[in-house]
Amino acid sequence: MCGIDKHTCEDGSGDERAADAATDRGERTAIPGDVDRRRFLRWTGATAGAGAVLGASGSAAGDDAEDPYTERFVAADSSNFSDDWRGADDIDWIVVHVTVGSYEGAIDWFRNPDANVSAHYVISNYEHTSGEPGHTTQMVNHRDVAWHASASNGPSIGIEHEWHEDYGEYITEECYERSGQLIGWLCDEYDIPKEYYRDPTCIFDEPGGIIGHTNAPSASDCSSYPTRSCPYPEGGIDPDTLMSYVNGDGDDGGDETFQDDDGAMTTTDLNGREGPGLDYDVVNTYPEGEVGRVVNGPEDSDGYRWWGLHMTDYDEWVWCVERYLERVKFHMEEEIYTTTDLNGREGPGLDYDVVGTYPEGTVGEIVNGPEDSDGYRWWGVHYPDYGDWVWCVERYMASNE
Ligand SMILES: [Zn+2]
Repeated sequence: MCGIDKHTCEDGSGDERAADAATDRGERTAIPGDVDRRRFLRWTGATAGAGAVLGASGSAAGDDAEDPYTERFVAADSSNFSDDWRGADDIDWIVVHVTVGSYEGAIDWFRNPDANVSAHYVISNYEHTSGEPGHTTQMVNHRDVAWHASASNGPSIGIEHEWHEDYGEYITEECYERSGQLIGWLCDEYDIPKEYYRDPTCIFDEPGGIIGHTNAPSASDCSSYPTRSCPYPEGGIDPDTLMSYVNGDGDDGGDETFQDDDGAMTTTDLNGREGPGLDYDVVNTYPEGEVGRVVNGPEDSDGYRWWGLHMTDYDEWVWCVERYLERVKFHMEEEIYTTTDLNGREGPGLDYDVVGTYPEGTVGEIVNGPEDSDGYRWWGVHYPDYGDWVWCVERYMASNE
């Protein structure tokens, strides 16, 4: 499989859904800026949500994942789960697990007729095992009973999270984010209360909720519970973190990675698309280090969080995946002022000649950068009152907007 790492996808081949954002092929699509912008602005204030936009809601059982954000369906072996015809009223619980193994290893195991175990979903956690934390595979249809929690299987959906002490005793933000999105969607779809049960609970006496494997009864009379620590080994699932994503607490202003008008720099060669999702056409592929201005978003789609950017140097309005964007102090064409008497140099570094020294309070415009050199971050600045185009140190400039 072609992974998310751009170095494994340099020829641009491979499955787009696996490779997504990173490709070195940059076929620039000539779309007039105003058309581009109009198309882009259609997304402003979109309230339908990514699921509705994709036109995918709980579909009939088949080869497509039922959760609209899940990348693929890979069927577990038919001897590893029970055929059933559960309806929405029969599904009241979500049981949370860790794999104690790799993502692909868990998927292979559930496909092995010797396993006698399965789960509805498996979510990847590490960059260094499967190459893309937060990737999700559905393996058993919701209507069918997966075998993951003994007597608690009947009314539940089981979700496995990749974790192994040898790979790292932590759950990545991407994995939490994806799991929270999936659990939130399942709760809405099946009217499951968004309540996390932290103690051993006789789930058959409760209205429903989310529970860790170790606290879900292994006997139908609730006389026994698992002895294993799943999903709470060292560095396993933290319920508070998971629930913050289930409840979408990350969606309100303060905790966001970006705010409107922030500068956002690409951390790899990155696709910009016409809309927030992998099905939208690529408008352009921007080189690593390109700075855009955040003007829209976020939207969650296809397992990614997307931001609308104006790529100033290209005059293009596009959507990019958050994972490959870094917040930077300025955006292109931002008006700044000097906070001290500040040197402007011919290039980004102390070895370049000083062109001029601009008094504290001089107003300029960001036109290039950033570049890191000599222990400083430098930006190209145009000072219109002086007619100078120079490089200045970031820390002595502030936004004037
Ligand atoms: Zn488990």
